[in-house]
Amino acid sequence: MADTTLMEKLVSLCKRRGFVFQSSEIYGGLGSVWDYGPLGVELKKNVKDRWWRAMVHARDDIEGIDAAILMHPRVWEASGHVAGFTDPLVDCKTCKARFRADKVQDAQCPQKPSKKPGEHSTCQLTEPRMFNLMFKTFMGPLEEQAAVVYLRPETAQGIYVNYQNVLNASRQKVPFGIAQIGKAFRNEITPGNFIFRTREFEQMEMQFFVKPGTDQEWFERWRGWRMEWHHAIGLTPARLRWHPHGPGELAHYAKAAYDIEYEFPFGWNEIEGIHNRSDFDLGRHQEYSGKKLEYFDQAANERYLPCIVETSAGADRVTLTLLVDAYHEDEVEGETRVALRFHPSVAPIKAAVLPLVKKEGMPELADRIYHDLKRQFPCFYDDSGAIGRRYRRMDEAGTPFCCTIDGQTLQDGTVTVRERDAMTQVRVHQDQLGGWVRERLG
Ligand code: ATP
Repeated sequence: MADTTLMEKLVSLCKRRGFVFQSSEIYGGLGSVWDYGPLGVELKKNVKDRWWRAMVHARDDIEGIDAAILMHPRVWEASGHVAGFTDPLVDCKTCKARFRADKVQDAQCPQKPSKKPGEHSTCQLTEPRMFNLMFKTFMGPLEEQAAVVYLRPETAQGIYVNYQNVLNASRQKVPFGIAQIGKAFRNEITPGNFIFRTREFEQMEMQFFVKPGTDQEWFERWRGWRMEWHHAIGLTPARLRWHPHGPGELAHYAKAAYDIEYEFPFGWNEIEGIHNRSDFDLGRHQEYSGKKLEYFDQAANERYLPCIVETSAGADRVTLTLLVDAYHEDEVEGETRVALRFHPSVAPIKAAVLPLVKKEGMPELADRIYHDLKRQFPCFYDDSGAIGRRYRRMDEAGTPFCCTIDGQTLQDGTVTVRERDAMTQVRVHQDQLGGWVRERLG
């Protein structure tokens, strides 16, 4: 049974605390498009930073790029998206609603009382028809077929078409990878579940180019590394699992594919795909562009078209996963306490500085400590309301450490550091505070 209340609480907390807002809300919102607020932008940025660190900075065999969203329309013919990036849809001739044929059972007919599509006596569902998910627009002043360009539905193609540029410009040799983070757009028919499935989203994709015959080994290695990454950002291992694609599920380009799934309140769902794409991509771009994309292996004196192992994760989906995984309620002094138990490395604010009272020189000292910490990591200063209330506000924002400047600070220079999850308190000298917090950020 889906835990809809948890999602409702999370959506409301995200709005109230400034993680995620509905796009164009004052105009009634835009379907399945969302904006990130002050805390949300930090959380998502931390997800992307951790991914970039693990994929590009920590390795010698991966280079980063940032390709444009608009690409030559032939790219999407070569990739198979023009012909095949489609979902089967059914229309209802009565209420004009559209549903994904494979998701009719999860959808709702807009007529009242609420029922599944096809269950009202007046429903008239059509046979499934194919619908392309790419957003089209026009380049230049004329809105004609020759000017059609697409908003990219995935970032991967920007990597394939730059594979030779990167190879020539860097000192990489196969096996090596190219990583990219960027926006992608899909005109999803059944978007929903908050930021899980949206029409505009960000992908974190890495394509690893390997010698044919070694692709399956690399695929297994990448599976291991990617699952480790999800553990390292703090997701609960028991809520992650592998979903292997069976023969009927495999995409046209894939030789093998596994999804990493997370147990959301609305069920197990994909957050990242790891695919063995064989030599399909470079083969197609070689054919459609007429440019040779073979790799010359000098040591072995042989030429071949590299195979590709892809890891493809959604930055927004991982952000949602972190929010769901971190959401925690407990009972403190007869009241419900809500805490977002983020791993400190992804928490939007790392520490709060709180003067216990607004007198006796505490605010001045707190202000000095705050500015010292703020140079090192994102911090928040709060001097309004009872200290318990201030702790609760920081718990809801997911801030792992609250540093309280109290009477003892004035005497011996130590501050009370209160930890968000266990609510334990220790005293740390103000001179060591920055280092103490940094050591715990991971
Ligand atoms: P799904 O089956 O959920 O539609 P997919 O198999 O089409 O996903 P891929 O094309 O493999 O997804 O995209 C890789 C990753 O990009 C997904 O694992 C997901 O994290 C993210 N992603 C894909 N579509 C969306 C979307 N509409 N909104 C948010 N993230 C998305």
